[in-house]
Amino acid sequence: MNEVWVIDDDPFAAKLTQRQFAACLPDSLVSAHTDPLASSQRLAKDGGHNIDLVVLDLRMPAMDGITFVRHLAAASYRGKLIFCSGQSDQMLSAAQQIAENQGLYVLGSLPKPASLEAVKVLLKREQSMTPPPTFTVSRDDIVRALNRGEFVNHYQPKVALSDRRFHSVEVLLRWVKGTKTISPEAFIPVAEQEGLIESLTHGVIDRAFADLAGWSRQGFSPQLSINLSTAGLNDLNLPEQLLGYCERAGIDPEKITLELTESKVIDPASRGLDILSRLRLQGFNLSIDDFGTGYSSLAQLRQIPFNELKIDGSFVAGVSERSPLQAIVNSSVRLATELDMTIVAEGVESKADWDYVAGAGCHLAQGFYIAKPMPGQAIPVWADLWREKSRG
Ligand code: C2E
Ligand code: CA
Ligand code: CA
Repeated sequence: MNEVWVIDDDPFAAKLTQRQFAACLPDSLVSAHTDPLASSQRLAKDGGHNIDLVVLDLRMPAMDGITFVRHLAAASYRGKLIFCSGQSDQMLSAAQQIAENQGLYVLGSLPKPASLEAVKVLLKREQSMTPPPTFTVSRDDIVRALNRGEFVNHYQPKVALSDRRFHSVEVLLRWVKGTKTISPEAFIPVAEQEGLIESLTHGVIDRAFADLAGWSRQGFSPQLSINLSTAGLNDLNLPEQLLGYCERAGIDPEKITLELTESKVIDPASRGLDILSRLRLQGFNLSIDDFGTGYSSLAQLRQIPFNELKIDGSFVAGVSERSPLQAIVNSSVRLATELDMTIVAEGVESKADWDYVAGAGCHLAQGFYIAKPMPGQAIPVWADLWREKSRG
């Protein structure tokens, strides 16, 4: 049986939280622990292998939650973690970040006392998150997968917040290995380091253009967004190559958006600036991805001719309840509006997220509330259903 530990030095609070989790997880054994010191010693002994979830308070005089997190990591705890505390949002975010930095799998945070509804929402979110990759990928693995054609494209729709119209799809790469589907987070960084990212990107584009042609025969012609790795921005011929692809496939570059991750700084002295400027001159749209997670946001916005801004999902999911996230979303919208950019909210997971970002002035929405990434042949089916749902 799965065990859940609720760790809170206040016996009443511990009992209450225990009861909420027991109600939501009838198949688990939920226990309350009021002595964090004793709990951490038990963990050190057996590594917590039988524990599926730890629900942790932050402010405990005998041992605070941050210290407890260190003990969890030291014991190689592999289960999930939820913070449940009356501390500020910022404090909860910091605790979450500290735990993630130590390789722990954090589901999220709950205010204290936690309502049954909040516990349910958080536990449901689990299904939408992928745990950290548990295996390492080598250069040979990627070369073999390329030769065997194991990389496939999935597509996630983006829709207009004003009238719900289906607007575009983002290509998200998947590695299908037997019955397993491997997330890009496990292999993209390796491909970047090993000089294989350009081969992957060429495959992505080939398949996407073929799928675009298929959809257009069925009466759909969404815009297409492609993730470009800044590590692949060395080849000065990239703009001509991409234009060549478009010409052969009969696709207008204005239908294509290239997304570049903000956290990877583009050195203005590098070739990246040259390449991106010429791509924009040829009509491709340039999007600054994961906006808010990087360091050089303002400088890059001035130097690089981006015309779209994607607010990172970590600021969007749950935005309606958390004022620090609202501040980030609102200031990103203000900035992008002044720069006349299209604003995409990524990670829209609920109706409340949708309503918030629509009200804040974002143009497009992408996220599980609208659709999860799906294989190319599913797109026309989804688009029909979406249209019906939006009418009715
Ligand atoms: P990204 O570009 O920020 O893509 C959005 C990620 O958020 C996707 O993860 C998507 O499945 C996920 N997502 C979408 N909506 C929601 C939501 O409502 N809630 C949550 N929790 N997540 C949501 P995915 O597909 O695992 O991709 C991860 C990252 O891998 C991408 O982040 C992108 O940086 C990279 N990647 C994916 N495909 C490619 C590619 O073809 N080339 C390059 N260079 N990078 C790629
Ligand atoms: Ca992206
Ligand atoms: Ca993102």
